[in-house]
Amino acid sequence: MNISLSSEFADAVPEMAVAWEAVPVREPVLLALNEPLAKELGLDPAWLRADGLSFLVGNEAPGVAQAYAGHQFGGYSPRLGDGRALLLGELRDSDGELRDLHLKGSGRTPFARGGDGLAAVGPMLREYVLSEAMFALGIPTTRSLAVVSTGATVQREEPLAGAVLARVASSHLRVGSFQYARNTGDHDLLRRLAGHAIARHYPGSTYLELFSQVVAAQASLVARWMLVGFIHGVMNTDNMTISGETIDYGPCAFMEAYDPTTVYSSIDHRGRYAYGNQPIIAQWNLARLAEALLPLFSDDEDEAVKLALKVLGTFDEHFERAWMGGMQAKLGVAVDVKPLLKDLLALMHANHIDFTTFFWKLSAAARGDAEPARSLFLDLAGIDAWIARWRALNPDADAMDRVNPVYVPRNHLVEEALAAGADGDLEPLRRLLDAVTSPYGERPGLERYATPAPQDFTTNYQTF
Ligand code: AMP
Ligand code: MG
Ligand code: MG
Repeated sequence: MNISLSSEFADAVPEMAVAWEAVPVREPVLLALNEPLAKELGLDPAWLRADGLSFLVGNEAPGVAQAYAGHQFGGYSPRLGDGRALLLGELRDSDGELRDLHLKGSGRTPFARGGDGLAAVGPMLREYVLSEAMFALGIPTTRSLAVVSTGATVQREEPLAGAVLARVASSHLRVGSFQYARNTGDHDLLRRLAGHAIARHYPGSTYLELFSQVVAAQASLVARWMLVGFIHGVMNTDNMTISGETIDYGPCAFMEAYDPTTVYSSIDHRGRYAYGNQPIIAQWNLARLAEALLPLFSDDEDEAVKLALKVLGTFDEHFERAWMGGMQAKLGVAVDVKPLLKDLLALMHANHIDFTTFFWKLSAAARGDAEPARSLFLDLAGIDAWIARWRALNPDADAMDRVNPVYVPRNHLVEEALAAGADGDLEPLRRLLDAVTSPYGERPGLERYATPAPQDFTTNYQTF
């Protein structure tokens, strides 16, 4: 098969694209292949499974390592970049949209710093499952095309099997890409990067409109995360896209018991990226994007700052609209749910209620049987009173079932599937993917995929 990849990113901003080759993979073994996505990209799945394997690990043609900067946990690094990743190029999908084909775990690049440039099977399978679950939930995200084990050993705390993830995104432009361009002091580079972002994502926009569309996209994205209990875990500015797609599935996880302070990442000591902090962090990251774009807004710096602040101020309304609209849908009603929601979340917090379980079980209460939802609570008087107020709004049970997932990638099941996968047994992964890629509506035989983790698992669980 002859695949023609374009190089629009590298052509637009060659200063930010270092031509580089993936490390040769001697024993590629396909662990996961996303056939629907392959077809969407015009790639023949049968070919990818056979001769195309070397294409999937980057051994057919060189790619580029992308330069970017970023604030990591609040501290600025002027030079991060793809340390273990490569952009192979862009493909037109069946809708005519340009999509990046990108590799993770393809060897050291000039941005590798101290890193080995490699990735282990477990984390790459984790990205595959989590990103495909997010896609099935209708949340903008990078996609996973394939995971290929390499036969190489990756030294972490213990020796692990290596893998390469082939990732697809509408682009890999990040807030950190703009920080990098701005930091060079070269306004022409910044202008070209912004022009490339506009052409790809927000055609016809001015620079200020580019910023305002990113603000809207990120506000809506983070609201969508919050509505399914998703905790990204590492919202550094290099992990926030201009497209508004979720990117970088490292220490992310789905929250079980509702608690805004929930953190699963062992490196997030202060809870900077806790569930409830995500909106304010997104806004902080967008302020960093504004700083990077300032010279494009106006030649007059005071004027540029004024314009940027005005746009930044729209984040709250975008977020509130997406969050409240989403919560109305989850509760099956079309009226203002603010007071009702506040009381519900307080009850869920106090009673340690599993976020996913409560909402899908609640639809039975709209049909007349409150038991499945109410029996989750210790404070029965509290939840009975709440259900009575909510029922008075005539909730639509069928509509609720269409938006409240039954199956999300629960942490204990993800760990189980990854551990088996690393041992060569891909069956648990296949079953988990089957559950989470059709998340709505209870299906027989899948009870364990709809059940929270045992308490002893949850207490000390860390993703990373
Ligand atoms: P992340 O935390 O995944 O967003 O990565 C932050 C930075 O570290 C990026 O520049 C990555 O390319 C780089 N990086 C992460 N892991 C490795 C590795 N094993 N080898 C080289 N670079 C890495
Ligand atoms: Mg990253
Ligand atoms: Mg990462």
